[in-house]
Amino acid sequence: MTAILSNLQAVRRAVADAATAAGRPVDAVRLLAVSKTFPAAAVREAYQAGQAAFGENYLQEALDKIGALRDLPLEWHFIGPIQSNKTRAIAEHFDWVHGVDRLKVAERLSAQRPALLPPLSICLQVNVSGEASKSGVAPQDVAQLANEVARLPRLRLRGLMAIPAPADDPAQQRAPFARMRELLATLNAQGMRLDTLSMGMSHDFAVAIQEGATIVRIGTAIFGARDYGGEQ
Ligand SMILES: *Cc1c(COP(=O)(O)O)cnc(C)c1O
Repeated sequence: MTAILSNLQAVRRAVADAATAAGRPVDAVRLLAVSKTFPAAAVREAYQAGQAAFGENYLQEALDKIGALRDLPLEWHFIGPIQSNKTRAIAEHFDWVHGVDRLKVAERLSAQRPALLPPLSICLQVNVSGEASKSGVAPQDVAQLANEVARLPRLRLRGLMAIPAPADDPAQQRAPFARMRELLATLNAQGMRLDTLSMGMSHDFAVAIQEGATIVRIGTAIFGARDYGGEQ
């Protein structure tokens, strides 16, 4: 059995166990396999092991992989920081974008989404760690941005995403995830219909699932440690 197959099986089991322990249905949590820095062959191997949704951070690297894997019915999620001059390629080649934190980027993605494709699924990135993070909309500004993005015709606002500052202690991990759950509940109480909380990575997905994550973004636990070759 290959490492990717056995890692995927272990991660699926851990995700299912965390959902069950939280009293949630196992299918309430989707696994997004984060394949950044790993080659198309690794993505193909994960697909053969039953994984169809992949997350990428770096646009050019992602476009190369998307091209090389055209023969597979994959779902691509852009999870990296978004520069406004890169929105067209993102709008053309991805199914989801998780890191939207300003209206200008959302407007460009909507305007550039090809008419023949379904609306692009969007998560707003929230800065739940204060100064520890540069990206993400401040929690008190989420509602306004959500209302503006929800009006854009070629986008489908799905929910919220966060990358909390790393913490080893589950008690410290929990607070930002709980805050995200409350923010989503507040938006839905105001009449929005958001179904997604994108939160939880290899080191903290169990706590994220306890706090309501519906998409966990997992790289290292599936593909192994990343080697940036000194270039990133
Ligand atoms: C790299 C990355 C992940 C995956 O992190 P792991 O710790 O390898 O599981 C998840 N989300 C985002 C936004 C990332 O950049």
